[in-house]
Amino acid sequence: FTFHSLQAKMSRPVQARRLEGIDKNIWVEFVKLAATYSKVNLGQGFPDFPAPDFLREAMMRALSGGNHMLHQYTRAFGHPPLVKVLAQFFEKLLGRDLDPMTNVMVTVGAYQALFCCFQALVDEGDEVIIIEPFFDCYEPMVKMAGGTPVFVPLRPNPPKDGKLMSSADWQLDPAELASKFSERTKAIVLNSPNNPLGKVFSRGELGLIAELCVKHNVLCISDEVYEWLVYDGKQHIRIASLQGMWERTVIIGSAGKTFSATGWKVGWVVGPDRLLQHLRTVHQNSVYHCATIAQEAVAQGFQRELKLYGKPESYFVQLPKELQQKRDWLVQSLDGVGMKPIIPEGTYFLVADISPFKSDVPDVPNSDEPYDSRFAKWMVKNKGLAAIPLSAFYSEAHKNNYTNFIRFCFAKEEATLKAASDILQKWKQEKTS
Ligand code: PMP
Repeated sequence: FTFHSLQAKMSRPVQARRLEGIDKNIWVEFVKLAATYSKVNLGQGFPDFPAPDFLREAMMRALSGGNHMLHQYTRAFGHPPLVKVLAQFFEKLLGRDLDPMTNVMVTVGAYQALFCCFQALVDEGDEVIIIEPFFDCYEPMVKMAGGTPVFVPLRPNPPKDGKLMSSADWQLDPAELASKFSERTKAIVLNSPNNPLGKVFSRGELGLIAELCVKHNVLCISDEVYEWLVYDGKQHIRIASLQGMWERTVIIGSAGKTFSATGWKVGWVVGPDRLLQHLRTVHQNSVYHCATIAQEAVAQGFQRELKLYGKPESYFVQLPKELQQKRDWLVQSLDGVGMKPIIPEGTYFLVADISPFKSDVPDVPNSDEPYDSRFAKWMVKNKGLAAIPLSAFYSEAHKNNYTNFIRFCFAKEEATLKAASDILQKWKQEKTS
């Protein structure tokens, strides 16, 4: 064949249309920057302390125990011991009977659970409501499914008494939320406790969302990966337990977040069979099987937690207790240097106001990049401290709404948090001297 026909072939677009406009991903950039420059990494959300002994021992037993079949495929929709114990656990939490085979499915982390939800439930032209700020993958995942994301913001109401702001001060405007629901709305994504703010939605707020879902016959994709990480005696309320919601809700969870083992990438969905049957179709045509050995170890972790449920020795009691101390420590240290923290009610993230440090990082007029993003890049390159700009958790249209904030992850060893605090203190001293 001729050179001409070869050229004609090459000029054909290689990229599928569904990828248009979703090629950028801030994590690729910020993870690389952190790897290159950071001395202290409070950026991406993962613990730098070890996963609990009982979980690591469970993995060791799974590896070296007598059952060599744990190295082979297991049931596609979830290793039987894991779906069984998850069903038992969620029966307790939701107060309803669950069938491990139809009401639970295991996924490659909560990330694949989300992907299955959007692919299975969202059609071309469907609208999906997303509450801003949001875990950034919701937007491209909705678009990849052919849907249209519709954003509704949490709006900050600063406390008047001069106290530090709390994530509870970021609230939905009920009328604004209601205005986003229409006959085109297929689903709403709820993430409570919320990444990045740490907001734990109250019963009243969840009631409002539930009422609108029922009224407009809308599904709820409920990302609850931080379900155990709530502080100050607050309670995580599952929207699926509200009236009329079980039938329309998919609950998403993550062993990575629950057991401080994000690298294992074990996640799950819990919900009614009428929804999960379609998620299974996506799962069987994409990933099909998740790693057996990790599922076995997570199953054992849950068996332990089921026995210790509500007891002080439970990891789901101990982990939030430890994290609350770390949160308080970071809150104090940020407040001490004037980088005002928004106190999170849950998750292991904390958003802080960078205003007093802005003079070191000149603004570039008319730049397309939000200020906080340039600030975070400057900070990791010049101070060795990695954090994530809040604008990364906003849609393209709203990324310039709040550009004075960065997000820190505090699921870190004391020494790591101390090193971060030392960097900020030294920086502040340099500014004042
Ligand atoms: N949802 C939220 C809100 C998250 O923060 C994360 C991880 N950062 C995920 C889902 C993905 O979880 P996993 O690591 O289990 O895939």
